Parts: sequence; structure tokens; C-alpha cells
Amino acid sequence: MVRYCHPPMGILDGKKVLVTGVLTDDSLAFGVARHAQEQGAEVLLSGFGRGLSLTRRTARRLPETPDVIELDVTNDEQLLAAANEVGQRFGRLDGLVHAIGFAPANCLGNGMLAAEWEDVSTALQVSTYSLKALVKAFLPLLETSVSASVVGLDFDASLAWPGYDWMGVAKAALESLARYLARDLGPRGVRVNLVAAGPVRTVAARSIPGFSRFEEVWDTRAPLGWDLADEEHAVGKATVALLSDLFSKTTGEIVHVDGGFHATGA
Ligand code: NAP
Repeated sequence: MVRYCHPPMGILDGKKVLVTGVLTDDSLAFGVARHAQEQGAEVLLSGFGRGLSLTRRTARRLPETPDVIELDVTNDEQLLAAANEVGQRFGRLDGLVHAIGFAPANCLGNGMLAAEWEDVSTALQVSTYSLKALVKAFLPLLETSVSASVVGLDFDASLAWPGYDWMGVAKAALESLARYLARDLGPRGVRVNLVAAGPVRTVAARSIPGFSRFEEVWDTRAPLGWDLADEEHAVGKATVALLSDLFSKTTGEIVHVDGGFHATGA
């Protein structure tokens, strides 16, 4: 009997994916980039400002070292240059991962009345509006794909959390924006979804005063348990699933990857 051996297939085989937001190997986006490569994607990373050299160093810890392009999502020239660069390298874009968030210090942990508009607007620009800016810059390349998927990282915004303050508002707006973008881009062949991740100890998370309060409750209340030091892999795998054609008819959706915490009461 002749037996045929097929090479293992990855769910992202042949896909070209840009992943923003890899800073350290704790970054949620690191988990995304790692699992995307393991599932056959060709991955490019983008890094920002002073973190760019750290992104380059972290890139070497991935299974294959991807190139890193510079991209500050608040800078129109860099958005244009990044889209040109990705166009020259890939010719199209099948997957785009938004893993970007920032709020000035007085937007976090001081209650809602402390921050003024200047700081709030920065939080909203970097954490929310940037999804629109990113999608718009890369739309010609996404439309060239036969099946394009945009995935953003969210923290469940249906509730008010301790300390999260204006980032919580930015995430609520991100959830709404993702639905509107899904409405507008569906007819153009582009899906837009979010992964609402449970808390993971990253550089961004450490800047949230009282982050330890999440740590205390999450593992005990989440039906599946939750390891704050390691769950970037669970988040990465779910994001990769949404990037893949397995979710070809899903858009405007929020997938919780939080151990089931959102579904439980006290
Ligand atoms: P992280 O490793 O610190 O990543 C945040 C990234 O955003 C960094 O690479 C940061 O770059 C980048 N960034 C900030 N301003 C930017 C700008 N203007 N242009 C481009 N990039 C910019 O933290 P993370 O926790 O993985 O965060 C990734 C995403 O996951 C965020 O949207 C976050 O809200 C979300 N999320 C995190 C958690 C959690 O518990 N960690 C839970 C749910 C959702 P620099 O550091 O160089 O500024």
C-alpha cells in the first residue's frame, strides 16, 4: 500500500500579516506573531519611537526573525511610508493586528475627573482612533487580499474597572469603532474583529495603577483559570484563528479570551 505524507498545514499558510505592538516577549502581540508564524504566516512587525530598538531585539526571539518597520500610529507620514513599505514587500495584506494602547498617567488611577481633554484626547487618539488610521492606510493592500482580516486587542469595556478610567472609555469606543468599521469594510472584503483579553503582565499593564487588583480576582473567578504571566499565548492563538479563513463569516465580533471571567458573577 502506498502512503502519502502531506506536510502539516498551518491555518495561516501563505498569509501575509502585519503585527503592531510587539515590545517585549510579554506583549500580547508577541504571542500573536509567534503563533501566526507557527501557522505558516509571513509576519512583519512594526515598532514605535524609543521602543523600536526593543521591538527589533524581541523580534529575534520569534521562531523566525521578522523585519521591523517604524510606525507611530499618530504620524500620517509614517502611516503612508509603512503602507508603501508593506506594499513593496508583500503586494497585499491578508492580516493586520492592532495591539496599540497608551494613556497619559493622569488618565489612569485618578478617577474620571482628574484628566483634562488634552490628555484624554491623546489616550483616545492612540488607543481608539489609531484603529481607523491603521485600517485606512492599509486598506488598498487589504482589499487586494482574497480574504482580509483585521484584529484589534480589547479589554472588556462593558463594565467600569478599578483604575482603568479613561483607557476603559477608549476601549468602549474601540468596541464601537470595530463594529462601524466592520459595517463599512465588509462589502470591501475586509473583516474587523476584536479579542477581549484578560489581564496579562505587560509593559502597558504595569502602567495601570491597581493592576494587581485584577490579578487577585481573575484566576479565582475565571472558570478556566488565568495565569497572568503566560496567557499571551492563549490570546495569540485566538487572534490567529480570527486572522484565518476559519472565521470567514465573522465580523464586528468581540471574542473573549479571559478564561471565561466575563461570563461569571461573584
Ligand atoms: P505592550 O507590550 O506595552 O504593547 C503596547 C504597544 O503599544 C507597545 O508596543 C507600544 O509601543 C505601542 N504604542 C503606544 N503608542 C503607540 C503609537 N503612537 N504608535 C504605535 N504604537 C504605539 O502592552 P500590551 O498589554 O501587550 O498591549 C497591547 C494591546 O493589548 C493594547 O491595546 C492593550 O490595551 C491591549 N490589552 C492588554 C491587556 C493586558 O492586560 N496587558 C488586556 C487586554 C487588552 P511603546 O511601548 O514603544 O510606546
